[in-house]
Amino acid sequence: MSFQLSAEHEAIRQAVREFGEAEMKPVAREHDEEKKYPEDLRRKAAELDFVAPHIPAEYGGAGMNMLARCVVTEELWRADPGLGSAIGSAGFGSSMLIEYGDEWMKEEWLPQIAAGDAVSCSCISEPAHGSNVAGMETVAEKDGDEYVINGNKMWITNGTVADVGVVMAKTDPDSEPPHRGISALLVPTDTDGFNTTKIDNKLGIRASDLAEVVLDDVRVPEENIIGEENKGFYQLMDFFASGRTGVASQAVGAAQGALDAALEYAGEREQFDQKIGEFQAIRHKLAEMATNVEAARSLTYRAAGHVEGDKDDEAVRLASMAKLFASEHSVDVADEAIQVHGGAGYVSDHPVERFYRDARITKIYEGTSEIQKNIIADRLL
Ligand SMILES: Cc1cc2nc3c(=O)[nH]c(=O)nc-3n(C[C@H](O)[C@H](O)[C@H](O)COP(=O)(O)OP(=O)(O)OC[C@H]3O[C@@H](n4cnc5c(N)ncnc54)[C@H](O)[C@@H]3O)c2cc1C
Repeated sequence: MSFQLSAEHEAIRQAVREFGEAEMKPVAREHDEEKKYPEDLRRKAAELDFVAPHIPAEYGGAGMNMLARCVVTEELWRADPGLGSAIGSAGFGSSMLIEYGDEWMKEEWLPQIAAGDAVSCSCISEPAHGSNVAGMETVAEKDGDEYVINGNKMWITNGTVADVGVVMAKTDPDSEPPHRGISALLVPTDTDGFNTTKIDNKLGIRASDLAEVVLDDVRVPEENIIGEENKGFYQLMDFFASGRTGVASQAVGAAQGALDAALEYAGEREQFDQKIGEFQAIRHKLAEMATNVEAARSLTYRAAGHVEGDKDDEAVRLASMAKLFASEHSVDVADEAIQVHGGAGYVSDHPVERFYRDARITKIYEGTSEIQKNIIADRLL
């Protein structure tokens, strides 16, 4: 594979960077402080195909490949992770529709999401079952030609702003092993019994919406099953590698944003009658930060190449490695960026404390660092 981005990829990077500079950076701090979801910005980003770049052109999207999507995500997060998360997650769960949905589902929802007129969410995690997805307790019980869904979903990105959700639930609660009895269901969020409570005490990515979802006798027609009944877990597994590569791109973007800020500050701040960027201690710090960002980026792009290809075991291994490496180093780079700023890095006047708080999520969602290590070790031993 080539380690060179194509001219098209570079053009995409440039376009997202311009959007980030002009539209995101000026309002990033305000959205973080006010925990404000960027509805207008999401619509603007949709006009430029940055909201759900993976949606195929026939459904109004840009049909970008995995590498191009990584570049979009990286640049959105480089400008600001909170806003980047809100914009880049507007189509959460839609990959399931693209890959396994019936034509009517795709026609009804994908063009709206791509246009920025609708938002989707992916309801997998529960209060008692996060890493152990197969342990979920939400149940979808058949009643005539409908399913009745009951359960609790936790930590749902876009929970209070979404128009539609892809809800994972047990359609065969007694199945052994348990992951065999899970299905994916399409649930419009205005369906009776779909109740949400916003979670607004997050450490970071505060512009991004997060909620607990309680499903209380939510009724959907039987045709709302996405793909095959009881095959939902296997369908979900198809997107683990792309999801993790996406989070790795988020981490790379946050790290690059923190590095940019540190470089700028090191070139301005003076102590002992010289720029702090002339001290060897600071120069070495910046050199290590830049090397780790580049290494994380290379591993992420390599994973993207495999995810785009055969969705083979190599894609799973590399995606986990990319997510693990990029997320751990993203937090470390943001930490060092604060150090370069001294006391000024500890307050919200500069963006580095935000990058530090924002980068932290990449070690948790789409499988924690510990789970990524389990996956990698399983493929070594
Ligand atoms: C901001 C945010 C957004 C999110 N968005 C979504 C979303 O849109 N949709 C959704 O469904 N979920 C979402 N999540 C949930 C996220 O995926 C889970 O938080 C994550 O999978 C971890 O699950 P948990 O929180 O239950 O932690 P737990 O699974 O309880 O883990 C606790 C600790 O135990 C460790 N651990 C658990 N099992 C093992 C093991 N087998 N080996 C070693 N260590 C282990 C973990 O690594 C962790 O350190 C989001 C979470 C956050 C915070």
